[in-house]
Amino acid sequence: MIFEIDGNKLVLTAPNSFTLRIVQERFLPEISKRALPYFSAPPQIELRIEKRGIKPLSPTVAEPVSIKSVAPTPKINSKNQNKLNPALVFDTFVTGKANQLAHAAAIQVSETPGVAYNPLFIYGGVGLGKTHLLQSIGNLVSKQNPQAKICYVHATNYISGVVRAFQTKNFDEFKQFYNSLDLLLIDDIQFIADKPGTQQEFFYTLNSLIDTNKQVVITCDTFPKEISGIEPRLTSRFTCGLTVAIEPPGLEMRVAILLQKSAASSFPISEDVAFFIAKHVRSNIRELEGALNRIEAYAKFHKRQISIDLAKEALKDLLAAQNKQVSIENIQKTVADFYRIKIIELLSKKRTRIIARPRQIAMTLARELTQLSLPEIGNAFGGRDHSTVLHACKTIESLRNTDSALNADFNLLNQTLRG
Ligand code: ADP
Ligand code: MG
Repeated sequence: MIFEIDGNKLVLTAPNSFTLRIVQERFLPEISKRALPYFSAPPQIELRIEKRGIKPLSPTVAEPVSIKSVAPTPKINSKNQNKLNPALVFDTFVTGKANQLAHAAAIQVSETPGVAYNPLFIYGGVGLGKTHLLQSIGNLVSKQNPQAKICYVHATNYISGVVRAFQTKNFDEFKQFYNSLDLLLIDDIQFIADKPGTQQEFFYTLNSLIDTNKQVVITCDTFPKEISGIEPRLTSRFTCGLTVAIEPPGLEMRVAILLQKSAASSFPISEDVAFFIAKHVRSNIRELEGALNRIEAYAKFHKRQISIDLAKEALKDLLAAQNKQVSIENIQKTVADFYRIKIIELLSKKRTRIIARPRQIAMTLARELTQLSLPEIGNAFGGRDHSTVLHACKTIESLRNTDSALNADFNLLNQTLRG
């Protein structure tokens, strides 16, 4: 498949009609969604078939097959078009320190919509469960009150709706639809950045719903004040209810999630396998699920029981990439650069604080990010004893609780190294 941008048009050239049909039937909405940030308005998508033996990139060689404006728009008139996914419910949502506030707020909002916190603003990184929580609210409210008019909409679809309303001059209908809702769930609001028309429209909708005690729940990938390209009057409206964060899950919570997910499958995993996966897949819950699925598929294919060895084989690529990414040399270089000291100093016997602190940080990062043992880490830092490494980790751990600047440095280095 070849992607080309031509003005406000995205041209996709397929090698044959079979691929073209698959793309047309299955992937158009997703493609148009992902393309959106690269265009000022929802792009027209044109599908073509590559002509044999001729270079496909020249516009004269491809024959247009269909021109479709695929901006996905909520069908605003039909009933039950709330786009709720029945699988995303509170029952399957594992809670822990990282998300318990967000979870509690979501439950409360579902039980007393429009009363508790309005809007409820949930923010956090990708794959941490924002959409799951948002959909759970919709499903619970819908179960408790089947008459409630609920709409789940991804911000990109909302934007398309605004554009479409402009084009077809159906603004009244559009406004009326949103203003008549009992519950509006809008996902990934960061996408409306740099779209002033949409922001204005959303500002009115938000005010109108909140003023009439209709519940609004918003998710976003960052804290409201940190989204750039959104009008301040809107971001300040976002925070007038309750703002809660979802953090990345800690090790035990990742294990709990894996155990819960695998209990539902025909290939349950043991706790030590869950620990093994959770130790290696740290970024987010979506990736945890991906790793688990891969292990299950591998076990099924080879008709073997799931064990740590099997998990190691199934996740071989992932583990290799990880080990390659975070080598101890990489950690030392990154930390030395960050603190503007030399690697040689980091490995030296010098004990002045401006050297010793970065060294302790580097050792702690090595312990968290590599599979090396304490003696191995000590060795890599100029032949130090394992107890020195342990002491460094403890020192940094406690400093992170009291010294917020150090904690911020540590988090930044950690993120940079994880890539
Ligand atoms: P986000 O919207 O924050 O990017 P999602 O809600 O799409 O993340 O979550 C990614 C995947 O992880 C989904 O399949 C979701 O069901 C699952 N998931 C997220 N959080 C949890 C949780 N706390 N318990 C169980 N599954 C979760
Ligand atoms: Mg999401």
